[in-house]
Amino acid sequence: MTRQPPFLPMSVKEAEKLGIRQFDIILITGDAYVDHPSFGTALLGRVLWDAGYSVGIIAQPDWKTDGDFTALGKPRLFFGISSGNVDSMVNNFTPNLKRRSDDVYSPGGILRRPDRATIVYTNKVHGLFPDTPIVIGGIEASLRRFAHYDYWQDRVRQALLADAPANLLVFGMGERQVTGIARRLAAGESVTSLRDMPGTAYGMEIAEWRSQCPEGIVELPGFTEVSQDKTAYARAFALHYYEQDPVRGKSVAQPHPKTVVIQNPPALPLTTEELDTIYELPFSRKSHPAYKQPVPALEPVQFSVTSHRGCFGECSFCALTHHQGRIIQSRSTASIIREVTRMTMMPEFKGIVQDVGGPTANMYGLSCEQWETFGACRNKHCTPSCKTLKTSHKNQCELLRALREIPGVKRVFIGSGIRYDLALADDADYLRTICDHHVSGHLKVAPEHIAKKVTGIMNKPDRAVFDRFREQFESLQKGKKSRQYLLPYFMSGHPGCTMADMIELALYIRDNRLYTEQVQDFTPTPMSVSTCMYYTGLNPFTLEPVHVPKGQEKKIQRALMQYRDPRNKGFVIEGLRAAGRTDLIGTGSGSLVTAEDRGNRQFLTKYIGTKK
Ligand code: SF4
Repeated sequence: MTRQPPFLPMSVKEAEKLGIRQFDIILITGDAYVDHPSFGTALLGRVLWDAGYSVGIIAQPDWKTDGDFTALGKPRLFFGISSGNVDSMVNNFTPNLKRRSDDVYSPGGILRRPDRATIVYTNKVHGLFPDTPIVIGGIEASLRRFAHYDYWQDRVRQALLADAPANLLVFGMGERQVTGIARRLAAGESVTSLRDMPGTAYGMEIAEWRSQCPEGIVELPGFTEVSQDKTAYARAFALHYYEQDPVRGKSVAQPHPKTVVIQNPPALPLTTEELDTIYELPFSRKSHPAYKQPVPALEPVQFSVTSHRGCFGECSFCALTHHQGRIIQSRSTASIIREVTRMTMMPEFKGIVQDVGGPTANMYGLSCEQWETFGACRNKHCTPSCKTLKTSHKNQCELLRALREIPGVKRVFIGSGIRYDLALADDADYLRTICDHHVSGHLKVAPEHIAKKVTGIMNKPDRAVFDRFREQFESLQKGKKSRQYLLPYFMSGHPGCTMADMIELALYIRDNRLYTEQVQDFTPTPMSVSTCMYYTGLNPFTLEPVHVPKGQEKKIQRALMQYRDPRNKGFVIEGLRAAGRTDLIGTGSGSLVTAEDRGNRQFLTKYIGTKK
């Protein structure tokens, strides 16, 4: 294999220049090809190339015709298909189910990704190359690997392997899996024999499943059952959630009408050395030169650095536990320094490192001695109250100091959110370090709510912890020339949140001067715990009922967070009345909104529309 090229080839002409007559692997993606490690296709393409395979990329093919799919010919080993960095339905629709007008992963922001891109691309490739193995992966495939609630159709859909003619599904981050698949196919194994690979799922004929009854596999209630019975859906969710650990997790099977989908345990986390190698591959940090217009998603991450993977926070509305897992995998300081040093040599680099982090910025270097031998605990969350969790941020402080000292670096920012309960448990003065050096005007934190019942359901630290963090942050502002502010993210409409809880949050926002124009309204994205609650009305781990705000109530909850916006006045008044809190309507100092007037009433009637 030749050395890594400046960009992976997207055309026969580029392939010929590299001496390639047939690609080993062709990767198809719903994103533009941006040669940056935060774009999954670029990352896996570079990793496969590093392992000795030639890789061609088909980015954003026109799925209505054949030409783009056949442009690079037939690969020797397999097609790898992904919707791109984001689930195509999340990408193509707003949380209110309106079609978006642009796509930040496309040149010029132009829409070029079909709905349910993985299924569409896979059908197309299977039709054109019926004998070539197809491996699907990426966030869409990963988080739709079991029967799942689909918000866009408001129904339970089959696992992707039952809906798309793919041979294998790769879930999680994928490097171990794709290189393993390539190696075994190149050695002559057939794709149907690759059933033992961690981090992959496959389909089995029903007759074979019945005849084998393999032991040691956790069998979930099947698609037919979970699509008709919400309690069965919740039970199935809890069963597969508990097995998502690479050390102690078991294989999980779910029967579907025409196939049985079997998920092997997750792939083992990468070692520090492996992560270092991957992130130091020669990414150009640019979009492919074939594009005439910029790809908007590149700009905010072009000079950001991944320091680690995984998150043990287990926030209920985030599906990361099902994708990257809870075990933190950190790079070495030396490797990150080398990556940033290389960035400083790019003419486009202006001295600003936009972010150093992972899913949660301050989990870099944190660990638990159990992870390697027993995995993360099945029935216990990793919080600072667990004595086994090492919460010192010393490694992070040292890393940040070293990055600040690299010649050519003017500022190093922390753009990823920080987990404030961990920052409070730290013994290395982390918060002072980031306030002094790594935050411009605002520090992002995500308390999400303050009502105890809601933070409990969200699996977030409670209000007292956030209040302590705010105090500590404020104490660090004393004597500063330029004051910094906390930018808290709060969420409305989450399962478990009642109107009374939302009013409690609105009052907290008002009393603590935390009003913000940025509002998050809960969206049921695939495979999160919260989405399971949204669909079933049950906590999957206890099967206790959970209140689920929907329709008009959800709109009112959202409006309550932005009670100052005149357009929300009607919703806010309606919510306050429904909750018996008319004491908060009026002109008194304790009010959230003034009473409606006659002129406003007409506007409100029009704005609110018909109640569900
Ligand atoms: S011992 Fe504590 S930190 Fe370690 S995996 Fe279990 S809960 Fe998490």
